Amino acid sequence: MAVFAEDILQAAEAAELEIEGAVKALDKIVDHNQWKVIEAFQRQKVSDFHFAGSTGYAYNDRGREVLDLVYAEVFGAESALVRPHFASGTHTISTALFGVLRPGDELLYITGRPYDTLHKVVGKPGDGTGSLADFGITYKETALTSDGKIDWDEVELSINERTKVIGIQRSRGYDWRSSFTVAEIGEMVARVKELKPEVIVFVDNCYGEFTEKLEPPQVGADLVAGSLIKNPGGGIAETGGYICGRSDLVELAAYRLTAPGIGGEVGAMLGTTRGLYQGLFMAPHTVGQAVKGSIFAAAVFQRCGFTTKPAWDEPRTDLIQAVSFDSAEHLIAFVQGIQRAAAVDSHVVPEPWDMPGYEHPVIMAAGTFIQGGSLELSADAPIRAPYIGYMQGGLTYSHVKFGVLMALESMRERKLL
Ligand SMILES: *Cc1c(COP(=O)(O)O)cnc(C)c1O
Repeated sequence: MAVFAEDILQAAEAAELEIEGAVKALDKIVDHNQWKVIEAFQRQKVSDFHFAGSTGYAYNDRGREVLDLVYAEVFGAESALVRPHFASGTHTISTALFGVLRPGDELLYITGRPYDTLHKVVGKPGDGTGSLADFGITYKETALTSDGKIDWDEVELSINERTKVIGIQRSRGYDWRSSFTVAEIGEMVARVKELKPEVIVFVDNCYGEFTEKLEPPQVGADLVAGSLIKNPGGGIAETGGYICGRSDLVELAAYRLTAPGIGGEVGAMLGTTRGLYQGLFMAPHTVGQAVKGSIFAAAVFQRCGFTTKPAWDEPRTDLIQAVSFDSAEHLIAFVQGIQRAAAVDSHVVPEPWDMPGYEHPVIMAAGTFIQGGSLELSADAPIRAPYIGYMQGGLTYSHVKFGVLMALESMRERKLL
């Protein structure tokens, strides 16, 4: 560890002492979720023959069917659709929304501006891309209040007879705001259903899975979606997404993924099934390692004088650790430092680029086994004031620790500390 300056190592040691209690509390969540997953496997009598791949139409692929049942149970949902055919989180969310929205309906996001890649899914009227707007599905959002809460006055004003789906984003995404806990999501569900009982509450659960004991369907969310190269894939799933919730809505999403009338009854899993099961089994532990890493990162960056969200001792409901830096140079040093600690691709130096779906240049560190897999240690930063860097993931706690130290080291070398 000679590469790190003495003062950086001292900050790390002090931070580790400081976070001991928080890490112990985290272990309780990991244990709870690990057993929840094992129980679901047991009740569905998962056996090794379920792991075999399937080809062609893959009718009656028992491994695929049981995987859906296991997911539904783990998330406390009526049913689930877990597929490698979802190309990304955005594709999964888009499938869920297109599955349930019809021309003339309105989608209302109540947690402020959604994740960047969803802006083009929402689209603009007449954009010709096949976006929601292009199909005559209108969109509204209510900004969060200055203290990061739901603006209920605005929500009440915005809900109308066309409001079909209420969108909630659990995680902060690329926003300097707090993430919403499952308990808070439960309160939102209760409140919007008071305003309009038949509304469908959709939750973008990306980055949230297994960071708490409960998941959004267990507090009343109707439809939930997430990415398998984030939390629930456990770092093992090679691609895919999941949708879970009310059976009728999951079925509509399945019709959108394949074709009306076909839904989830077809879809070759090829060789992916074992990884999806094993990833789910590993997910509670691996998410725990990543969250522990985030707590450490917050503690160390705070010691070095930066503001973090959440602070190390604040409650967490997702993987993302945001750190507010002083300049674009800090951001770049931070991201490049994370990359330097990777096992894969440590020799490449990330640079800002215009990533498809994002509106500002983004710099990303991703020395990952699964391309873009962000349950693995990764860092992203849109290059825009106020220079906030986001880091997430880490298959092992030690790796996160080295990533953070290397980020500080990169800043120190450039005389930014
Ligand atoms: C990652 C993420 C998405 C989109 O997932 P991609 O796999 O990047 O398409 C959507 N919403 C949130 C909150 C996310 O974190």
